Amino acid sequence: MRNRGVRIISCPSCARQGFKVIETVKILEQKLSHIKTPITLSVIGCVVNGPGEAAMTDVGITGGQKGSNMLYLSGVQKEKVLTNDMISKVVNEVEKKASELDNN
Ligand code: SF4
Repeated sequence: MRNRGVRIISCPSCARQGFKVIETVKILEQKLSHIKTPITLSVIGCVVNGPGEAAMTDVGITGGQKGSNMLYLSGVQKEKVLTNDMISKVVNEVEKKASELDNN
């Protein structure tokens, strides 16, 4: 059984991370706390584990070179997202996905 709300899967982060994984997860947890739909979100610092985790989550973000990160929706690579835009983009995509799931 999945829990209610957003379940975030993240990597422990290391020197390879393309953005600050742990801080980002903390902010996303706060900004997505209003979502009650069961949904998974992967927040992974680089391509070592990012695409694999994204394949198993509803929304995924994977760190890239020079702040150019990759957004995945339902495991499918979608678009590059700059680190400065990442939080708002991910929040927006999780809200959209939750609303889609609610209406199915
Ligand atoms: S996914 Fe990348 S950034 Fe995250 S712990 Fe693994 S190697 Fe480091």
